[in-house]
Amino acid sequence: MIAAKKKFGQNFLKDTSILSKIIQSMPKNKRKLIEIGPGLGDLTQRLLEVKPLVAYEVDSELCIYLKDKFSKEEDEGRFALVEGDVLERFKEGSLSDEPYDMVANLPYYIATTIILEALRDPLCKSLVVMIQKEVAEKFAAPHKTKEFTSLAILAQSIGKSKILFDVLPESFEPRPKVTSSILMIEKEQEFIKGDFPGIFEKNEDLKMFEKYLRFSFTAPRKTWLKNISAWVEKKYANQLLEKYEYPVTIRPHEISVSSHHLLFKELTEGKKDGREQETERNR
Ligand code: SAM
Repeated sequence: MIAAKKKFGQNFLKDTSILSKIIQSMPKNKRKLIEIGPGLGDLTQRLLEVKPLVAYEVDSELCIYLKDKFSKEEDEGRFALVEGDVLERFKEGSLSDEPYDMVANLPYYIATTIILEALRDPLCKSLVVMIQKEVAEKFAAPHKTKEFTSLAILAQSIGKSKILFDVLPESFEPRPKVTSSILMIEKEQEFIKGDFPGIFEKNEDLKMFEKYLRFSFTAPRKTWLKNISAWVEKKYANQLLEKYEYPVTIRPHEISVSSHHLLFKELTEGKKDGREQETERNR
């Protein structure tokens, strides 16, 4: 028996009813499927009953085990294992050369980073991932709640983000200290086509929007105006609030996704016009 390694965030999902629920939640299409961290292969086995997949696993001991366990599927061309750190793969670009869906029980320690990479990857069309409940809530948080911060706005700018169900620690071996949730993010049609709609015509626009969000939420309890003034001239940000009749005291979580788009667009277009170029700080 292979012992779970803490350093790789290994908590193996043993509850067969949860495995079945994950399979039912998968998008039904003919797209390529990618699993991150197959572990001992329990979820992999169930996924392979539905369609072929490519899996990314960092633990070399598990890779030997998985190659043996799925040797038949590998010979048939239905299973491929990529050994290594998936974050290193993302640095090289997409995980795939064709559109794909991601299904995974993610290691907690890098779950947010993996989701952000998948959101930025235009070839990733949807995610069904198990992560810590508190983190899932950040991606799915509705407008005006205190969890509605950068992660929720980013995910909801790109697609629909929702929590499907929770999973208790006793469903895993070893048991984690926290409750988990299954988070589903389905990218919008424009992203499915591989284009970035409206404000995100290019991947660089998305990166710029992430920067805008970092400034907007520097101190989430402070006003948007105070936060954004570290990036653009306060007077100009103030004028924008007046133009759209937002109170100067509005805090970043009180601004809806579409209003954040509007403010972002105005601020970045202002830069293109040269109005803001001299005043931008922290380039
Ligand atoms: N899918 C299995 C299951 O549901 O039982 C295992 C899930 S376990 C929470 C996370 C898995 O991700 C482990 O197999 C771990 O080795 C793998 N992993 C951790 N860090 C990784 C990384 N940087 N790249 C690829 N896989 C990683």
